[in-house]
Amino acid sequence: MGLSSAFYLQQSGHHVTVIDKSDFSDNCSYGNAGYVCPSHFIPLATPGIVWKGLKWMLNSRSPFYVQPSLNGALVDWGMKFIRSAKAGKVAEAAVPLRDIALLSQQEYRSWTNIPDFDFGYEHKGLLEVFQTEPVGEHAHHVVEKAVALGLDTVLLNKDELQALEPQAKMNALGAILFKCDGHLYPNKLMTGLNSLLRQRGVNFIANEEVTGFEKEGNRIKKVITPKQAYEADEVVIATGAWSRQVAAMVGVKIPMMPGRGYSITLEDSPYRMNHPAVLMEGRVAITPMDGNKIRFGGTMEVVPTNTPPRYHRVEGILNAVKRFLPEFDIPMPPKDKIWYGFRPCSADGLPYIGRVKNTSNLVVATGHAMIGLSLGAGTGRLVGELVDEKNPAIDLKPFSVERFS
Ligand SMILES: Cc1cc2nc3c(=O)[nH]c(=O)nc-3n(C[C@H](O)[C@H](O)[C@H](O)COP(=O)(O)OP(=O)(O)OC[C@H]3O[C@@H](n4cnc5c(N)ncnc54)[C@H](O)[C@@H]3O)c2cc1C
Repeated sequence: MGLSSAFYLQQSGHHVTVIDKSDFSDNCSYGNAGYVCPSHFIPLATPGIVWKGLKWMLNSRSPFYVQPSLNGALVDWGMKFIRSAKAGKVAEAAVPLRDIALLSQQEYRSWTNIPDFDFGYEHKGLLEVFQTEPVGEHAHHVVEKAVALGLDTVLLNKDELQALEPQAKMNALGAILFKCDGHLYPNKLMTGLNSLLRQRGVNFIANEEVTGFEKEGNRIKKVITPKQAYEADEVVIATGAWSRQVAAMVGVKIPMMPGRGYSITLEDSPYRMNHPAVLMEGRVAITPMDGNKIRFGGTMEVVPTNTPPRYHRVEGILNAVKRFLPEFDIPMPPKDKIWYGFRPCSADGLPYIGRVKNTSNLVVATGHAMIGLSLGAGTGRLVGELVDEKNPAIDLKPFSVERFS
């Protein structure tokens, strides 16, 4: 969110400085599955996930886990999450999620025309593969909904699925093929965007944590780090899973929890897939990327960001892969080959994008949960439009930052 916002702001003539507490070599936007996915119009908070979450809490290799705690932020988020996980709210979210994803996909496509900026964008579609009748039945309804939303989507039976993936023997009943989806290589996107922005004059400040803001009236005057105070006439908070704490520094409340996920990438994979694929019952994402690479990602652990990684969760990912793709015999990798990152999970699965009431020169762009890579370029464009006081390309009301206040 930070870099794509910087892209559009620099393009419209602003002098942009990106301040990050890390060294710009890793964050949640690097090791994810790379889906650019209008197909994901169903938000994280759904009626089914609440019950599954309670059941899965007892299994340390399960794909969804909430670490029980009486921490006020978690309790507040949890209550709002449960209230959002209603069929009516899920249905209301579909159009805004589709619109922002299509906008974002259009922006990524336009980025493919920028010279010397290759981030491996491909438009091959996305498979959602299922093994059981109930999930197949659900898939049938999802296809109907997707088609009603104008998304190019078909249901495949077992043979049709296998014909699309002749190199990978599938243990499945069928799949949804979302022809509307694309994917990219996130690491290349991030490093490429970083060097493109540097070339264009964006200022990068690494290893400085924002610890406060100096305000004058209802405006932020300075962004404070332990080393310096940076003057600013417009400020964008795009601090991912840490945004709740950073926004609180200006008195803005956003319900959010970090949702940790893990991935492993086979650099020169002996296994091949033609399409990215979500293994539905296993909740695992597989993405072929950048030539011979293939990435396997998953799990949603709602835990504070200082919780030590639970590497054995990756066994759960690899076991699910084996159940769907019996020939994919992937040994548990050493710890240094396992990536993890924290998704910024809003309480309803919709991002927070917009201005806030108490500070006139602040824009917030966070809370994208499982779809932040997909919505990255589009969010950047919307941030640019907000700062420039232009009419945003899509209706931003559903993404209102203070919708829970
Ligand atoms: C396993 C996995 C698979 C995923 N797959 C997909 C996918 O296929 N498609 C998709 O759309 N999404 C996917 N996601 C989600 C996506 O990765 C995230 O939604 C997205 O990366 C969030 O981007 P962000 O810019 O908000 O946060 P980040 O990328 O985490 O960036 C936030 C930055 O803020 C900095 N920061 C935080 N606090 C401060 C501070 N106080 N001062 C200065 N800097 C600070 C951090 O250092 C960090 O660099 C996946 C996530 C995971 C974990």
